[in-house]
Amino acid sequence: MKRTNSNALYQISSQYFPGGVNSPVRAFRSVDGTPIFITKGNGAYVTDADDNNYIDFCASWGPLILGHNHKKIKDAVIEAAENGLSFGAPTIQENELAALLIKNNRFVEKIRFVSSGTEAVMSAIRLARGYTKRDKIIKFEGCYHGHADHLLVKAGSGLVTFGSSSSAGVPEAIAKETLVLPLNNKEALIKAFEEHKEEVACVIIEPVPANNGLLLQDKEYLEFVKKIAHENCALVIFDEVISGFRVGFEGAAGYYDIQPDIITYGKIIGGGIPAGCYGSSAKIMSYIAPDGDVYQAGTLSGNPIAMSAGRAALTELLKDGFYEDQQDRTQKFVNKIKHHIDQKGYNIQISTIGSIFWMVYGDQPQIQSPDQISKDASKYFKAIFSKLLQKGVYLGPSGFEVGFVSAAHSDEILDEAANKINTALDEVNIEYNLS
Ligand SMILES: *Cc1c(COP(=O)(O)O)cnc(C)c1O
Repeated sequence: MKRTNSNALYQISSQYFPGGVNSPVRAFRSVDGTPIFITKGNGAYVTDADDNNYIDFCASWGPLILGHNHKKIKDAVIEAAENGLSFGAPTIQENELAALLIKNNRFVEKIRFVSSGTEAVMSAIRLARGYTKRDKIIKFEGCYHGHADHLLVKAGSGLVTFGSSSSAGVPEAIAKETLVLPLNNKEALIKAFEEHKEEVACVIIEPVPANNGLLLQDKEYLEFVKKIAHENCALVIFDEVISGFRVGFEGAAGYYDIQPDIITYGKIIGGGIPAGCYGSSAKIMSYIAPDGDVYQAGTLSGNPIAMSAGRAALTELLKDGFYEDQQDRTQKFVNKIKHHIDQKGYNIQISTIGSIFWMVYGDQPQIQSPDQISKDASKYFKAIFSKLLQKGVYLGPSGFEVGFVSAAHSDEILDEAANKINTALDEVNIEYNLS
């Protein structure tokens, strides 16, 4: 497979950007390679600068639930662009997208649009702090919430620990306001609330943790998170930047039927254009400026192009049977791979929810926290990833990233992809022995 043009473009981009990229995981460092430059996407496929085609499961890291270059979204963007790109004043498009979201979602009454998932989450945290008049937050090891200072924090040692920053440039003073706990561990939550009575503003969790592999939690655990937070007058934030509009129109809140206090959305909500939002009850949202004294603003917030793209996307998602169909196709695809793995006795697990899937080396059947992931997982992922790339299947370039199936991934395309994945596993098995 020719890579000449991508390699040349990477040489150039490396002169302009750190690592040659504008977001670190794109650099292919965790798969020991150099990035492929994408020139276009259509349906389930992307094409690179050397005209290679790939079945794409990265889907721009989740936003493209309808596939690439969806006609309705493209038309909506072009139509909106005819009237100008941004006004910094209220537009009808904001009302329309908000109406779609709020009228079809039992879990938020009011929202505020922003321009990214990170911005949604950092605003939600500020809201929780402003509402509770407390500073500390609890997050979980294995959940990602964007790159704001107080969320780039990792656990130290011990069950309940103050975080230490996971990035240079994050002040320890800020990191120590974040408590980082193990996922799926009630004990740790009990202990944290005992040790920090009346100090914790909120507990933030990805209800479907999908940024460190797919670490599906039990509903009962998620209910416990809410219960103990509320007993301690702390808020619960569901970070649904991935799971929102993905595991159902109402996201994980709807999937598990749990009402959190604040929800954040991103990715899918902009239909592929930068947008995010956070939402809550009308009462909690009344704390946001200009109604309340929690300040949060954005020059390009509610941008009419992004709102139009989001509206076109969400309209499709609301059609009867959309999510059932997504899940059915994904399940068939996953089952086909699972069947092959079982037959061959490979030490590979594949898990799924909605139209998300994740394949990982190891013998642990149900992984619910990062420490259950095999130390060798990355080594095997690298090998599988590179075989798949050669066969024309594009996964996110890290073993900790999940795969996304879109509406454009037909049964036929998924069949072809499953066959290629099964063949790739057979080839990797010859070199590394997967059993
Ligand atoms: C992607 C993601 C974010 C950050 O969103 P950006 O748009 O990349 O800033 C936050 N939380 C979760 C759960 C995400 O998956």
